[in-house]
Amino acid sequence: MDGPKFLLEASEAETLAHKSGHTTVLQVLPSLVAPAQALARPPISNFHVGAVGLGSSGRVFLGVNLEFPGLPLHNSVHAEQFLLTNLSFHSEPKLHYLAVSAAPCGHCRQFLHEIRNAPDIQILVTDNHLNQFDSLSRFLPHRFGPGDLLDEDVPLLLEHHDNRLCLRTNNGEIHVDDLLRHAALEAANRSHAPYSGCPSGVALVDCEGKVYKGSYMESAAHNPSLGPVQAAIVAYVASGGGGYERIVRAVLVEMEEAKVRQEHTARLLLQVTAPKCEFKLFHCFQTSKKPTSCG
Ligand SMILES: [Zn+2]
Repeated sequence: MDGPKFLLEASEAETLAHKSGHTTVLQVLPSLVAPAQALARPPISNFHVGAVGLGSSGRVFLGVNLEFPGLPLHNSVHAEQFLLTNLSFHSEPKLHYLAVSAAPCGHCRQFLHEIRNAPDIQILVTDNHLNQFDSLSRFLPHRFGPGDLLDEDVPLLLEHHDNRLCLRTNNGEIHVDDLLRHAALEAANRSHAPYSGCPSGVALVDCEGKVYKGSYMESAAHNPSLGPVQAAIVAYVASGGGGYERIVRAVLVEMEEAKVRQEHTARLLLQVTAPKCEFKLFHCFQTSKKPTSCG
């Protein structure tokens, strides 16, 4: 696919490093930050943020900030959140290094702490010209994080999640949105929602019929949590999606009577960013055991 690339395979990253005269992929990370910034979509602040991460597989991931005119600023996606969403889509288990154009804001320092061993993530800020990596524990000492609220064995962000969600069958009725609702269910099953126990997922489809999935991701500090519509928009942008008006249908899957519900926020977000988008909600339920034939 032509167009912007938000993921470099390990071999591509190594080739790029060698071509630019470096011996390791790590050395090339800072030089990828400015091209990443050019892909940001911040029509409100016009402040372009680029984040480039090196995962444990050797793959390189890009993240950028997204802002949505007509909505309150807290609906924005920060570049580091975009980056972690991108890692999560591609089942990358760990983020080792991060190069970012400006010092991570407090919100992002907190969000990064949803990863196990987050204090060890090495961060380089390109606009301070120091050209050195420092650990996240130096950017956010005395942290509040998942360890304050969760048991040690609860999966954290980037770790495998199976929320054991199934769709209600609606008396055998067949929905035209079957493909989309199953995509949204899959996203909900991967959702990281250990604080509310209310996982959810969104699937979007564009005018060419391409499907994009987004999982709701919570933060121990609650407010930095990323909604499922934003996560699906990240997937859309990272896949080279154009203007948001090309998004024509959306499905949200969440639990009925959940304490945290995405429905109203999702409707509003889509209404403002993709006014032509048709929105549907499907409720799911949680099984006590791993599902076998539901959905
Ligand atoms: Zn931030």
